[in-house]
Amino acid sequence: MLFDLHSHSTYSDGALTPTELIQRAELAGVDVLAITDHDTVAGITEIITDLDAKPDTTLQLLPGVELSSQWHGTGAHGMGVHIVGLNVQLDSSELQDALTRQQQARYDRAAIIADRLRKKGFPDLLPAVITAAGQGTIGRPHFAEQLVAIDAVKSSDEAFRRYLGAGKIGDIKNVWQALEDVVGWVRDAGGTAVLAHPDKYHLTHTKLRALVGDFKAAGGEAIEVVSGHQIAYKTKNLSDLCELNNLHASCGSDFHKPGQHWAEVGKHSTLPDSCRPVWDLW
Ligand SMILES: [Zn+2]
Repeated sequence: MLFDLHSHSTYSDGALTPTELIQRAELAGVDVLAITDHDTVAGITEIITDLDAKPDTTLQLLPGVELSSQWHGTGAHGMGVHIVGLNVQLDSSELQDALTRQQQARYDRAAIIADRLRKKGFPDLLPAVITAAGQGTIGRPHFAEQLVAIDAVKSSDEAFRRYLGAGKIGDIKNVWQALEDVVGWVRDAGGTAVLAHPDKYHLTHTKLRALVGDFKAAGGEAIEVVSGHQIAYKTKNLSDLCELNNLHASCGSDFHKPGQHWAEVGKHSTLPDSCRPVWDLW
């Protein structure tokens, strides 16, 4: 059985609709797919509730979500960490409330960026950015597109270099809910909390162990030992960490769009045999 338990659709920052994503996963031989859009379950809900939208497939869909959280507060040591919730109950009111909060946080951040750019003399870009994001997640790339559209800059690169990149006026950090709370939301919704791609936070080994410890103490049950196509020693390090903490292991491509061979749906590296897969919990 091939499990891909981390993927994105047009409902967040992915390029394919849920239907296209499912079809691509099926072609790649995926048996069980979790669509884990950022802070929304709208894509998977649409597929499950609207029979017209559901492609004819034998592939099993698992309701999922990827939630942003804050570890170690907002001070110098604070950082954003992603928690994947698998097998969540889509109609859970706790989850729906949590997702509304997360989306509000994203909207508030966009409004601050728009306001700062307006004070620089640009028109209010917020309405256009909201339209451009559609069902997806509003992000700085949408502001970059609009700055190009109004001829303020020549390219998206220039927009980041002058206005949106690190240290520039549009570089507004999102402040998310604490890791413990976010793990709690997943559990309240009957789901399994998974620490997403631990390798991507670029932590020292000591800090990574501290993160995994805090995650487990909060009720987290699994870590992504495999995220996309990854080199063997990373898999080994993460599976050791997993075993050391007596956690289950998850795997997924973190697919966003075609053409990224390191994150192609269904093409992620395999979980080591020594790991206890997260699906053993279900
Ligand atoms: Zn992701």
